[in-house]
Amino acid sequence: MAEFLPFTRPTIDESTIDGVSEVFRSGWLATGPNVSQFEQALSDYVGGDRTVLAVTSGTAALELSLQACGIGPGDEVIVPAMTFASTANVVLRVGATPVLVDVDLHSRNIQMDEAEAALTERTRAIMPVHFSGLPVDYEAVYSFAEKHELRVIEDAAHAIGSAWGDTRVGGTGDLSCFSFHPNKNMTTIEGGAISVPTEKEAEIIQNLRFHGIERNPDGTIDVTSPGGKYNLSDVAARVGIDQLARLDEFNDRRRFLAGCYLDTLAGAFEGLVLPERGDEGHSWHMCAVLVPFSDLNIDRPGLIAAMKDLDIGIGVHYPAVHELSLYRGMNPRPCPNASRIGQQTITLPLFPAMQDSDVDRVCDSLLNTLNAART
Ligand SMILES: *Cc1c(COP(=O)(O)O)cnc(C)c1O
Repeated sequence: MAEFLPFTRPTIDESTIDGVSEVFRSGWLATGPNVSQFEQALSDYVGGDRTVLAVTSGTAALELSLQACGIGPGDEVIVPAMTFASTANVVLRVGATPVLVDVDLHSRNIQMDEAEAALTERTRAIMPVHFSGLPVDYEAVYSFAEKHELRVIEDAAHAIGSAWGDTRVGGTGDLSCFSFHPNKNMTTIEGGAISVPTEKEAEIIQNLRFHGIERNPDGTIDVTSPGGKYNLSDVAARVGIDQLARLDEFNDRRRFLAGCYLDTLAGAFEGLVLPERGDEGHSWHMCAVLVPFSDLNIDRPGLIAAMKDLDIGIGVHYPAVHELSLYRGMNPRPCPNASRIGQQTITLPLFPAMQDSDVDRVCDSLLNTLNAART
């Protein structure tokens, strides 16, 4: 019997567990020296000349970024319809309106002609998602933003370690938001970070992430905004420091395994749509294929159950945002690719500790199950 293979699993070193114990014994658990060290390491990692601020989640990073840009009621923000709900939810949370637009079937990234068609005089920002770690076309996104005077808030939850050419995601551009949830390419348990382009906006975000507190020169404190509570703990940051040190190794391994999937699955089953291969700048947060269920006598829950019986975990990333209850009817624009991805996508196991032979086992099991379901 094979051991159950989940669709993802974090890699945590024993030395990290020891390091966390040291933080606990130090007596300083909340934001402190480990957070400062982690933020500096993130800044160095993405390119050195950006301020990177650690926060409690990717969702917090996105929400604080919108607030720092002054986006609120009456404003519209362009969001791809294929993403985790968080990307659109935060727009509603600041009182603005998410305008969902379609994505490309293969890259699963936002379609810029659709973004263009969604512009109104209220549009203030665009939130491109580097889906599965494949960077969006920076030239297209930033020339569009410049032309229409929009802020860009990159949802880089999948894209820590991804690069556009020689530049890492978060090393250039406007605001970039990372997530360090355990399913992501590196983890701090829960956590996130924002790469910020200017010192002024970094100060705004620092204020907003901790109660709106400002320190006076005499040591007393003042409160200057209704800030929230989004600061990361030193325990979490200690995990992040070690994870970041191994991130390139993790991502190389992901890229290698994803390449094995693509090599094995290319042309192996009619109607199966593989994700775009990308280049060295693709960090392969996940490998999701589209299955032509309407041509098969198995549906997605049936396929997931069949794979589970074969000790293989399959994920679904994601249902299309415009088809979720909260967003249904809100969106006048058709998003046929996002709909199709939402209905047909399955996420195959992909994480650094997987064996090469696991990829073969997943592909064999998947192809056997699909072939048996061919009508
Ligand atoms: C995970 C994720 C988020 C949210 O990150 P959290 O740390 O879980 O809040 C946002 N957007 C996308 C695309 C994600 O995958």
